[in-house]
Amino acid sequence: LGADIATPNRTKDIIRKHNFTFKKSLGQNFLIDKNILDKIVAAANLTEAKGALEIGPGIGALTERLAQEAGRVAAVEIDNRLIPILRDVLSIYGNVNVVHGDVLKTDLHRLWEEQFAGCEGVSVVANLPYYVTTPIIMKLLEEGLPLESIVVMVQKEVAERMAAKPGTKDYGTLSIAVQYYCEPELVCIVPSGAFIPAPNVDSAVIRLKRRAEPAVSVSDESRFFRVVHASFAQRRKTLSNNLTAFAGKERKAELGKLLLGCGIQPERRGETLSLQEFAVLTEALAAAGM
Ligand code: SAM
Repeated sequence: LGADIATPNRTKDIIRKHNFTFKKSLGQNFLIDKNILDKIVAAANLTEAKGALEIGPGIGALTERLAQEAGRVAAVEIDNRLIPILRDVLSIYGNVNVVHGDVLKTDLHRLWEEQFAGCEGVSVVANLPYYVTTPIIMKLLEEGLPLESIVVMVQKEVAERMAAKPGTKDYGTLSIAVQYYCEPELVCIVPSGAFIPAPNVDSAVIRLKRRAEPAVSVSDESRFFRVVHASFAQRRKTLSNNLTAFAGKERKAELGKLLLGCGIQPERRGETLSLQEFAVLTEALAAAGM
């Protein structure tokens, strides 16, 4: 009893019993593949001493596995229709707390204090709603939470962007934000048939291991990310053109020299710069008052 929500039959039973109808607008695609769950849970390295934060538990397929592996589980679900279902299917687990709310509006520092006091490490483990993947990841990265890792199912393309190396078509602001804070590692590709209902795209599980220190050291993080965003403002434009739009037309010549001084050819595109090059560039721009 209580085991294996993630099978087609049990999932269908729960949905029927509670007259549940899927809301596409909330990214509701429930996992029905036990092997994929095994891979997600293994990638999270959970133990009795650790905590897990799940975002979007759905009907609890992943939640029950987390409850079996971690000491404490908190699961934040936005859809109020799922709260009684979750309380019902998870009732045999004493270490799970279902929280009703929008994760983007949740005070996660407070949630941490309330749910994970005494845990030796906390990871986010989730099959994310795809319409808000990036805002959720950015919130987790930027809020400075004491996170060990983030193991998430996302759209395959998004996983590829997170892990992309400079000079590739997938490399962009998301790659840089993720890699500034974390070391990404692709866990597995997941076909759409692993979900009910099947989404239109393939998915992937990615593990983001939080770095002890950011990948590069900059004196002003928000300036660093402003420079990164400016460099990708128009992907096809050269760095020089994108940064001229950022610093002002009258400084174009000066900017060209500044780039060369950083060892960066002005006609390169933002997508070819490593994090280290962006860091050097940010400091040089700051020193020049740009
Ligand atoms: N974890 C379940 C599974 O793997 O079967 C469900 C995953 S489903 C892809 C995403 C879940 O996130 C849905 O249950 C949806 O209602 C919930 N959700 C969507 N937006 C949310 C938000 N802003 N905050 C919290 N949960 C959200």
